[in-house]
Amino acid sequence: MSGFMPYSRQEISDADVAAVAEALRASHLTQGPLVEQFEADLARFVGARFAVVFNSGTAALHAAYAAVGVGPGSSVLTSPITFVATANASLYLGGSVRFADVEPDSAQIDPNSADDQADRTVKVLAPVHFGGEVAPIEALAAVAEARHWTIVEDASHALGATYRTSDGAEHQVGACDHSAICCFSFHAVKQITTGEGGAATTNDETMYRRMKRFRTHGITREAGELAGNDGPWYYEQHELGYNYRLTDVQCALGRSQLARYGDWLAARRRVATWYEERFASIPDAVPLRRPHGSHGAHHLFVIRVPPTHRRAIYDELHRRGIGANVHYIPVYHQPFYQRGGFPKTIRSGAEAYYRSALTIPLFPAMTESQVDQVVAGVVAGLGGHPG
Ligand SMILES: *Cc1c(COP(=O)(O)O)cnc(C)c1O
Repeated sequence: MSGFMPYSRQEISDADVAAVAEALRASHLTQGPLVEQFEADLARFVGARFAVVFNSGTAALHAAYAAVGVGPGSSVLTSPITFVATANASLYLGGSVRFADVEPDSAQIDPNSADDQADRTVKVLAPVHFGGEVAPIEALAAVAEARHWTIVEDASHALGATYRTSDGAEHQVGACDHSAICCFSFHAVKQITTGEGGAATTNDETMYRRMKRFRTHGITREAGELAGNDGPWYYEQHELGYNYRLTDVQCALGRSQLARYGDWLAARRRVATWYEERFASIPDAVPLRRPHGSHGAHHLFVIRVPPTHRRAIYDELHRRGIGANVHYIPVYHQPFYQRGGFPKTIRSGAEAYYRSALTIPLFPAMTESQVDQVVAGVVAGLGGHPG
């Protein structure tokens, strides 16, 4: 056995190492020119007017919710099949959380359920592009418009994903064609990494300026935003913000990673196709359905297996050194959410999904023979012939 095969793994090239080394020797370790350069690269890549980088995807969500006015008395409506951060970021602001249901065969938020679960406090709808596939954003945007909600996308899985709308137009996730703000994560398991890191993109200059202030203690140095001016050293704090800055060193890594993104997406697509070819003849291991029009970024590869066999498959894969995982435990299961005074939530689609879901490895460097090893482990766990 050639070591453990994780469910996801970063790719670090010599070019990345060189870019970081150069940044380490430059005059700024943080707050230098690379921050704005990385932001410009990201904005260009997704086709948005503005990008703001943060030291985590969670910080980006926090800033985005703050920028659109989440606070006491308001809530964020999201999917329970997400990482806890999507929900937590609303609580940081004194807001609350509501959970809609997901479609169990895709793990994407169900627009009808989003509409049904609405209450008067909802201010933000936060779809999660689960696994890198694009949530049914056109239908969600229609619900949000009718209810006067703002959409903040959690695209932590979906850098590089695109989607086609009913008029035939192709849209890039992050261009914010159907949202106010779109958030990304650059955690080590995500499409590109800065170690920890994240970003928010928007076309709205007011949101952009709010998020930039939020990132740096609520402080501004922009001439147009200052009430006074004592001299060139002068700055003003206008609200309570945080230190959510990403360093120049990290931005050097991010820029270098983003430059090679296209190769990785092609590699991820190839791995997903290998899996799909093999699972086509295994009726008890069904890959997630891709939402209509979604051209995903293949962050996670999830299969649905009989709940009675999920644990056996998981154990069998781990016995073979294969890092199967489960994404995600419904957020409302968490003890914190159970006792937190939130409306008690049980969503049948999320429950059905959670009982059957298993994430198997997908990363750009994966080979076809590694795919075969994983599939053999799944078959063995299902009780078929050991691979
Ligand atoms: C990774 C992730 C986050 C949080 O990003 P961090 O960079 O780890 O803070 C939020 N939502 C989802 C769906 C994620 O996968």
